[in-house]
Amino acid sequence: MSKVILLRFGELYLKGKNRNIFERQLIENIKTKLKGEKFEFAYTFGRYIISGYEQVREDAIVKKLQIVFGLHSLSVATEVDATIEDIQSEVSKIKLCNKSFKVNVNRADKNFPIKSMDFAAELGGVVLDNNECKVDLYNPQVVINVDIRENKKAYIYFENIMCQGGLPLGSAGKALLLLSGGIDSPVAGYLMSKRGLEIEALHFHSYPYTSERAKEKVVELARKLTGYTGKIKLHVVSFTKVQEAIHKNCVPEYMITIMRRIMMRIAERICEQNNLGAIITGESLGQVASQTMQSMTVTGNVINRVPIFRPCIAMDKTEIMDIANKIDTYETSILPYEDCCTVFLPKYPVIKPTIEKAEKEESRLNLNALIEECLAGEEIIVIE
Ligand code: ATP
Ligand code: MG
Repeated sequence: MSKVILLRFGELYLKGKNRNIFERQLIENIKTKLKGEKFEFAYTFGRYIISGYEQVREDAIVKKLQIVFGLHSLSVATEVDATIEDIQSEVSKIKLCNKSFKVNVNRADKNFPIKSMDFAAELGGVVLDNNECKVDLYNPQVVINVDIRENKKAYIYFENIMCQGGLPLGSAGKALLLLSGGIDSPVAGYLMSKRGLEIEALHFHSYPYTSERAKEKVVELARKLTGYTGKIKLHVVSFTKVQEAIHKNCVPEYMITIMRRIMMRIAERICEQNNLGAIITGESLGQVASQTMQSMTVTGNVINRVPIFRPCIAMDKTEIMDIANKIDTYETSILPYEDCCTVFLPKYPVIKPTIEKAEKEESRLNLNALIEECLAGEEIIVIE
């Protein structure tokens, strides 16, 4: 008898002929996540199984696996030889403390001598013999699962522990997350990583209008994301000169629109320089003036080499906050340091900007020089 962890893969079954590529990536990601732990990893008859780990590390290993994208769920199980006696003996040790229960038997090995239903009833009898409890087939407090596999082993377990789902990190390529210090953009990064994207991040600061602490906050957010996304290369770009130039030369209500357009242009350049296939933002439709359809049209209009992914677009703030709490970025996000977008914030930002008007306002700026200067001063912080 030994303890093992059974793994269930998520959406990979949709992948048809490409399944192998996804599966290989997921296995590699699991092994990377468990680096430093003692464990064995095996595939036996349709089940991925982790075994040979130190018992005291079990909870820690489960926690690590729970944040690997592509894993749907897992169960901590007891592995015994698939004989009637061994299974019965293991089931007889179960203590239920008055809880109602049922037994599920899954007999993948059809050579096992008793049919699933009959064996489940028999094992139910064993549990009743050893406990003060009752059977409840429809709403049991405890489900005892017995999975009899072709490798002549049986796995006995209680819970399905839910993991993240999604697709294996790296299987969709790499993209650039526009990371502010707010609540939404870390959530956007998490959501896109969950769909298989590795991430680099880009943060604009407006030192000295924004503080060193504001930058540290963004580094801390990126660090929290790395638990899910792996290593993040953070590009930090000073936006001060751009903002001063816009403030000086353009009408105030277009301040944010033009800032966003310049952010997008710089982001696209960084994508090209670093071989990144998309830009990710934390925008949500209608949340603020710069997140209307018209604003997004005018902002997106300046780039055409990479798509913009906005995974929070259809989410309410409370839904975004729930995810921020789940991934533990919320408390950091609400620390009260200024973001560059709040510096020079106009009283009445335009809600329905037009491309023509934005272009006209921009014509008063030396765009190329401003963008080149931003890129030349880029600072890189690698967060592992
Ligand atoms: P967040 O909570 O992510 O800050 P927000 O609700 O404050 O979003 P905006 O300030 O309008 O919304 O920003 C919209 C998106 O633009 C952000 O989600 C982020 O992706 C990007 N962004 C805004 N400010 C910055 C910044 N200083 N550096 C990098 N990206 C930024
Ligand atoms: Mg913000």
